Amino acid sequence: MKTVIMGAGAMGGLFGGLLAASGQEVWLVDVWKENIEALQSRGIAIEEKGQEKLFPIHATTEVASVGKADLVLLFVKTYHTEKAVSDALVLEKEDTAFLTLQNGLGNEEAICRQVNPKKVLLGVTNQGATLLGPGKIRHGGWGKTFIGELDGKRTDRVAEIAQRFQKAGMETEVSVHIQRLIWEKLLINIGINALAAVTGLKNGQLLDHPETLMLMEGLVAEAVEVARRKGIPIEGKPIEKVKAIVEATQANRCSMGQDLDNRRRTEIEAINGALVREAERLSVATPYNRMITNLIKVIERTF
Ligand code: NAD
Repeated sequence: MKTVIMGAGAMGGLFGGLLAASGQEVWLVDVWKENIEALQSRGIAIEEKGQEKLFPIHATTEVASVGKADLVLLFVKTYHTEKAVSDALVLEKEDTAFLTLQNGLGNEEAICRQVNPKKVLLGVTNQGATLLGPGKIRHGGWGKTFIGELDGKRTDRVAEIAQRFQKAGMETEVSVHIQRLIWEKLLINIGINALAAVTGLKNGQLLDHPETLMLMEGLVAEAVEVARRKGIPIEGKPIEKVKAIVEATQANRCSMGQDLDNRRRTEIEAINGALVREAERLSVATPYNRMITNLIKVIERTF
């Protein structure tokens, strides 16, 4: 199985490096020349707990030179999905599968606009990685990955991909409820990311103030209501799950916070912004999410 990863950043580098290290054929594609040159000349450097390992890997900026792919894995930021999919169309053959493990909402739709939905697979990953520079990433934490078909069927192709990720050392499960898992991760991101980003707080500090706690509860409650109206069965008490994640990651500055700190564009439109758009369609009021989306968008515009 030939895997081509669109986006050789933190997550593309991690999945690519681990798949290549387990002997599988994998290509990293990126539009960032310096990154690809580093990957071509010495491989992907993965730092973990202070130790760095180098894994040789195929890498290119010329997607048309790769040939056809069995699996296209999307690991660009959500605002680049549309373009990355159109670039990846040269990789397509009759049985190519397109899998997104990106965060937020809208990736499925962006792929399905250009690719037959029968070829599209969804997933979520709890792996964590940070881009350190060209060809270099830090693997921050190991977490489970879930993948599934759009219609929830357990097919041979999804089982095979899961098996290949497993072979690369990444715990992976086929899920028949992938939409629910995407929403569960979305609820966590909605409760933490934008709020920590605008306040400048580390995750754990969000629990230190009654004001941020109240805002977190409002953000998550709106998202739970939208999920309920969409018929997505959310189990348990999502706000308690958000608080548990905040505690488990208390020293972390979330990715959206790091984006703002470094004056980079964020994925707000795929997280709180996407929720607001879904809510509008369903006539659900989302004042907390609308406000925080607008705040982040205005901050981005000052960069
Ligand atoms: P990143 O910014 O580190 O990497 C994205 C890469 O995509 C960049 O190198 C960029 O140059 C490249 N790119 C942009 N347009 C492209 C195109 N048309 N073709 C090929 N490459 C292109 O981002 P990341 O942290 O790896 O995140 C990728 C996705 O995974 C995001 O949706 C993110 O939310 C999600 N995610 C990240 C983590 C994490 O820990 N970093 C965890 C889970 C999910």
